Amino acid sequence: MGTPLETRQEQAAEVVDRLEHEYPDSTISLRYSNRLELLIAVILSAQCTDERVNQETKELFATYETPEDYANAPQEELADALSSITYYNNKAKYIRTACEKIVDEHDGEVPDTMAELTDLPGVGRKTANVVLQHGHDVVEGIVVDTHVQRLSRRLGLTEEEYPERIEQDLMAIVPDGYWQQFTHLCIDHGRAVCSARSADCEACVLADICPSEKGDSEIDLASGEPW
Ligand code: SF4
Repeated sequence: MGTPLETRQEQAAEVVDRLEHEYPDSTISLRYSNRLELLIAVILSAQCTDERVNQETKELFATYETPEDYANAPQEELADALSSITYYNNKAKYIRTACEKIVDEHDGEVPDTMAELTDLPGVGRKTANVVLQHGHDVVEGIVVDTHVQRLSRRLGLTEEEYPERIEQDLMAIVPDGYWQQFTHLCIDHGRAVCSARSADCEACVLADICPSEKGDSEIDLASGEPW
Protein backbone atom coordinates (compact mmCIF):
# COMPACT_ATOMS: atom_id res chain seq x y z
CA MET A 1 0.00 0.00 0.00
CA GLY A 2 1.26 3.46 -0.85
CA THR A 3 1.44 6.07 1.86
CA PRO A 4 -0.68 9.15 1.18
CA LEU A 5 0.77 12.53 2.12
CA GLU A 6 -0.19 13.94 5.49
CA THR A 7 -3.08 16.15 4.41
CA ARG A 8 -5.56 15.79 1.57
CA GLN A 9 -4.42 19.19 0.25
CA GLU A 10 -0.86 17.94 -0.03
CA GLN A 11 -2.04 14.68 -1.57
CA ALA A 12 -4.14 16.52 -4.18
CA ALA A 13 -1.28 18.88 -5.06
CA GLU A 14 1.14 15.97 -5.47
CA VAL A 15 -1.33 14.06 -7.65
CA VAL A 16 -1.77 17.09 -9.90
CA ASP A 17 1.97 17.67 -10.10
CA ARG A 18 2.84 14.10 -11.05
CA LEU A 19 -0.03 13.65 -13.51
CA GLU A 20 0.85 16.94 -15.21
CA HIS A 21 4.28 15.52 -15.95
CA GLU A 22 2.70 12.33 -17.29
CA TYR A 23 0.03 13.99 -19.41
CA PRO A 24 1.27 17.48 -20.36
CA ASP A 25 -1.27 17.87 -23.20
CA SER A 26 -4.29 16.67 -21.27
CA THR A 27 -7.50 18.35 -22.43
CA ILE A 28 -11.14 17.73 -23.36
CA SER A 29 -11.53 15.05 -26.02
CA LEU A 30 -15.00 15.97 -27.31
CA ARG A 31 -14.95 17.81 -30.65
CA TYR A 32 -16.95 21.01 -31.10
CA SER A 33 -16.54 24.38 -32.73
CA ASN A 34 -18.96 26.56 -30.74
CA ARG A 35 -20.86 26.60 -27.43
CA LEU A 36 -23.99 24.98 -28.80
CA GLU A 37 -22.00 22.09 -30.24
CA LEU A 38 -20.17 21.76 -26.92
CA LEU A 39 -23.44 21.62 -24.99
CA ILE A 40 -24.87 19.00 -27.33
CA ALA A 41 -21.69 16.89 -27.31
CA VAL A 42 -21.63 16.90 -23.50
CA ILE A 43 -25.31 15.91 -23.25
CA LEU A 44 -24.60 13.05 -25.67
CA SER A 45 -21.52 11.90 -23.76
CA ALA A 46 -23.43 10.82 -20.64
CA GLN A 47 -22.75 7.08 -20.31
CA CYS A 48 -21.27 6.98 -23.80
CA THR A 49 -17.64 7.19 -24.93
CA ASP A 50 -16.28 10.48 -26.26
CA GLU A 51 -15.01 8.57 -29.28
CA ARG A 52 -18.50 7.41 -30.21
CA VAL A 53 -19.92 10.88 -29.64
CA ASN A 54 -17.24 12.42 -31.90
CA GLN A 55 -18.06 9.93 -34.65
CA GLU A 56 -21.75 10.74 -34.46
CA THR A 57 -21.50 14.52 -34.16
CA LYS A 58 -19.47 14.92 -37.36
CA GLU A 59 -22.60 14.50 -39.43
CA LEU A 60 -24.98 15.87 -36.82
CA PHE A 61 -23.20 19.24 -36.66
CA ALA A 62 -23.16 19.43 -40.46
CA THR A 63 -26.94 18.88 -40.58
CA TYR A 64 -28.08 21.02 -37.63
CA GLU A 65 -26.40 24.33 -36.93
CA THR A 66 -28.61 26.62 -34.87
CA PRO A 67 -30.71 26.07 -31.73
CA GLU A 68 -33.77 26.63 -33.96
CA ASP A 69 -32.65 23.73 -36.19
CA TYR A 70 -32.68 21.36 -33.21
CA ALA A 71 -35.82 22.81 -31.62
CA ASN A 72 -37.76 22.41 -34.87
CA ALA A 73 -36.45 18.95 -35.73
CA PRO A 74 -39.04 16.18 -35.45
CA GLN A 75 -38.25 13.89 -32.49
CA GLU A 76 -37.98 10.80 -34.68
CA GLU A 77 -35.66 12.44 -37.15
CA LEU A 78 -33.26 13.67 -34.46
CA ALA A 79 -33.36 10.35 -32.58
CA ASP A 80 -32.58 8.59 -35.83
CA ALA A 81 -29.55 10.81 -36.37
CA LEU A 82 -28.27 9.77 -32.91
CA SER A 83 -29.10 6.10 -33.04
CA SER A 84 -25.60 4.79 -32.24
CA ILE A 85 -25.51 6.77 -28.97
CA THR A 86 -26.72 5.29 -25.68
CA TYR A 87 -30.21 6.51 -24.63
CA TYR A 88 -30.53 8.31 -27.97
CA ASN A 89 -34.28 8.79 -27.69
CA ASN A 90 -34.07 10.57 -24.35
CA LYS A 91 -31.04 12.57 -25.42
CA ALA A 92 -32.79 13.69 -28.62
CA LYS A 93 -35.68 14.90 -26.47
CA TYR A 94 -33.37 16.73 -24.07
CA ILE A 95 -31.54 18.43 -26.94
CA ARG A 96 -34.76 19.53 -28.64
CA THR A 97 -36.32 20.91 -25.47
CA ALA A 98 -33.09 22.50 -24.25
CA CYS A 99 -32.77 24.26 -27.61
CA GLU A 100 -36.39 25.41 -27.42
CA LYS A 101 -35.58 27.02 -24.10
CA ILE A 102 -32.37 28.57 -25.44
CA VAL A 103 -34.37 30.14 -28.28
CA ASP A 104 -37.33 31.26 -26.12
CA GLU A 105 -35.52 32.45 -23.00
CA HIS A 106 -31.91 33.16 -23.93
CA ASP A 107 -32.08 34.81 -27.39
CA GLY A 108 -30.56 31.73 -28.97
CA GLU A 109 -27.37 31.88 -26.85
CA VAL A 110 -26.10 29.11 -24.59
CA PRO A 111 -26.40 30.63 -21.09
CA ASP A 112 -23.31 31.34 -18.99
CA THR A 113 -24.45 30.71 -15.41
CA MET A 114 -24.74 27.49 -13.45
CA ALA A 115 -28.36 28.24 -12.52
CA GLU A 116 -29.49 28.93 -16.09
CA LEU A 117 -27.60 25.97 -17.51
CA THR A 118 -28.90 23.47 -14.98
CA ASP A 119 -32.39 24.78 -15.72
CA LEU A 120 -32.09 23.35 -19.25
CA PRO A 121 -33.54 19.85 -19.77
CA GLY A 122 -30.87 17.12 -19.60
CA VAL A 123 -28.26 19.43 -18.06
CA GLY A 124 -26.95 18.56 -14.59
CA ARG A 125 -24.12 20.15 -12.67
CA LYS A 126 -21.47 18.06 -14.44
CA THR A 127 -22.60 19.08 -17.93
CA ALA A 128 -22.99 22.70 -16.82
CA ASN A 129 -19.46 22.74 -15.38
CA VAL A 130 -18.00 21.49 -18.67
CA VAL A 131 -19.92 24.09 -20.68
CA LEU A 132 -18.94 26.89 -18.29
CA GLN A 133 -15.27 25.89 -18.30
CA HIS A 134 -14.78 25.19 -21.99
CA GLY A 135 -17.48 27.37 -23.51
CA HIS A 136 -17.34 30.45 -21.31
CA ASP A 137 -13.96 30.24 -19.50
CA VAL A 138 -15.78 30.24 -16.18
CA VAL A 139 -14.45 27.77 -13.61
CA GLU A 140 -17.02 27.49 -10.83
CA GLY A 141 -16.53 23.87 -9.87
CA ILE A 142 -14.82 20.59 -10.69
CA VAL A 143 -16.27 18.21 -13.24
CA VAL A 144 -16.75 14.84 -11.55
CA ASP A 145 -17.21 12.11 -14.12
CA THR A 146 -16.75 8.39 -13.57
CA HIS A 147 -12.93 8.61 -13.81
CA VAL A 148 -12.68 11.49 -11.33
CA GLN A 149 -15.07 9.66 -9.02
CA ARG A 150 -13.02 6.45 -9.11
CA LEU A 151 -9.54 7.99 -8.89
CA SER A 152 -10.43 10.45 -6.13
CA ARG A 153 -11.64 7.58 -3.98
CA ARG A 154 -8.75 5.27 -4.81
CA LEU A 155 -6.26 8.01 -4.00
CA GLY A 156 -7.85 8.83 -0.66
CA LEU A 157 -8.96 12.34 -1.69
CA THR A 158 -12.56 11.67 -0.67
CA GLU A 159 -14.69 9.02 0.93
CA GLU A 160 -17.88 10.37 -0.59
CA GLU A 161 -19.77 8.31 -3.15
CA TYR A 162 -21.93 10.78 -5.03
CA PRO A 163 -20.48 13.20 -7.61
CA GLU A 164 -21.84 16.41 -6.07
CA ARG A 165 -20.41 15.56 -2.65
CA ILE A 166 -17.12 14.44 -4.18
CA GLU A 167 -16.98 17.78 -5.99
CA GLN A 168 -17.36 19.66 -2.71
CA ASP A 169 -14.50 17.68 -1.15
CA LEU A 170 -12.28 18.25 -4.19
CA MET A 171 -13.01 21.99 -4.31
CA ALA A 172 -11.60 22.23 -0.78
CA ILE A 173 -8.30 20.52 -1.64
CA VAL A 174 -7.42 20.77 -5.36
CA PRO A 175 -5.10 23.78 -5.82
CA ASP A 176 -6.69 26.94 -7.24
CA GLY A 177 -6.04 27.21 -10.95
CA TYR A 178 -6.12 23.44 -11.42
CA TRP A 179 -9.83 22.70 -11.04
CA GLN A 180 -10.34 22.32 -14.77
CA GLN A 181 -7.13 20.42 -15.43
CA PHE A 182 -7.68 18.04 -12.50
CA THR A 183 -10.58 16.44 -14.38
CA HIS A 184 -8.64 15.94 -17.60
CA LEU A 185 -5.64 14.50 -15.76
CA CYS A 186 -7.86 11.99 -13.92
CA ILE A 187 -9.56 11.03 -17.18
CA ASP A 188 -6.22 10.45 -18.96
CA HIS A 189 -4.79 8.47 -16.06
CA GLY A 190 -8.03 6.53 -15.63
CA ARG A 191 -8.01 5.55 -19.30
CA ALA A 192 -4.29 4.75 -19.51
CA VAL A 193 -3.45 3.13 -16.17
CA CYS A 194 -6.12 3.17 -13.47
CA SER A 195 -9.21 1.87 -15.23
CA ALA A 196 -12.37 0.57 -13.61
CA ARG A 197 -11.68 -3.02 -14.59
CA SER A 198 -7.96 -3.19 -14.00
CA ALA A 199 -5.59 -0.85 -12.23
CA ASP A 200 -2.02 -1.30 -13.45
CA CYS A 201 -0.43 -0.24 -10.17
CA GLU A 202 3.02 -1.47 -11.15
CA ALA A 203 3.11 1.06 -13.99
CA CYS A 204 1.56 3.89 -11.97
CA VAL A 205 3.43 7.08 -11.08
CA LEU A 206 1.20 7.49 -8.02
CA ALA A 207 1.80 4.02 -6.56
CA ASP A 208 3.91 5.14 -3.59
CA ILE A 209 1.26 7.65 -2.43
CA CYS A 210 -1.88 5.66 -3.31
CA PRO A 211 -3.65 3.91 -0.44
CA SER A 212 -5.34 1.52 -2.91
CA GLU A 213 -2.07 0.37 -4.48
CA LYS A 214 -2.52 -3.34 -5.23
CA GLY A 215 0.92 -4.53 -4.14
CA ASP A 216 -0.10 -4.30 -0.51
CA SER A 217 -3.68 -3.06 -0.27
CA GLU A 218 -6.29 -5.74 -0.58
CA ILE A 219 -9.05 -3.20 -0.99
CA ASP A 220 -9.97 -1.00 -3.95
CA LEU A 221 -11.08 2.14 -2.11
CA ALA A 222 -13.21 3.18 -5.09
CA SER A 223 -15.58 0.28 -4.57
CA GLY A 224 -14.65 -0.67 -1.01
CA GLU A 225 -14.34 -4.24 -2.31
CA PRO A 226 -11.28 -6.52 -2.45
CA TRP A 227 -9.27 -6.20 -5.68
S1 SF4 B 1 -3.19 2.46 -10.74
FE1 SF4 B 1 -3.11 1.62 -8.66
S2 SF4 B 1 -1.59 2.90 -7.62
FE2 SF4 B 1 -2.22 4.01 -9.45
S3 SF4 B 1 -3.87 5.36 -8.76
FE3 SF4 B 1 -4.80 3.48 -9.54
S4 SF4 B 1 -5.08 2.17 -7.73
FE4 SF4 B 1 -3.60 3.79 -7.19
